[in-house]
Amino acid sequence: MRQSHVCAALLMALSWLAWSAFAASPLPPHQHGYADLEVLIDGAQIDVTLDTPLYNLLAFEHPPRTAAEQDKARQMVQLLRQPARLLVFSPAAGCQVRDLQLYSPALPAALLQDGPAPAKAETATPSVPPHSNLTGHFHFRCQHPEALGQLRVELFNPFLYLTVVKVQIRSDKGEKAALLTSDKNSIPF
Ligand SMILES: [Zn+2]
Repeated sequence: MRQSHVCAALLMALSWLAWSAFAASPLPPHQHGYADLEVLIDGAQIDVTLDTPLYNLLAFEHPPRTAAEQDKARQMVQLLRQPARLLVFSPAAGCQVRDLQLYSPALPAALLQDGPAPAKAETATPSVPPHSNLTGHFHFRCQHPEALGQLRVELFNPFLYLTVVKVQIRSDKGEKAALLTSDKNSIPF
């Protein structure tokens, strides 16, 4: 009798944990195919954070082991270091990239060329977990912020393993959210 009582309590605790995890984050923290994009617009300044499983960008998540994997990682970094091609804001707004940082526990900082890693990175252990993410911070400045009204996400074509980008945009006009795919890759705001 007591055992079933304990079981029921345990089940309740587990389902509460599962529910609260779901409620706190609409997307699971690491799901291949999915990425999170947070956009914060403050006047002429735009801060974008991309958080994606590394798999979506490379089809692997370990430190590059072969010359082919190193090439692939280098190409990926080259693409991400031109974010204006991947995150296309209304052209009339004249937004330009001012600063960017890339971080992944599976890739050497020298390859990412992002300067000092975020504080979180310093505590990363040398052993890389089986799954790894890449986080990109991109800072844009716009000449005509009054012309801002749309974001087109061009991440799907170069990164074929990426299928859904969950975009959240916060600006003085309010909040907008959408799930973007290669078929529907822009969001008005
Ligand atoms: Zn993974």
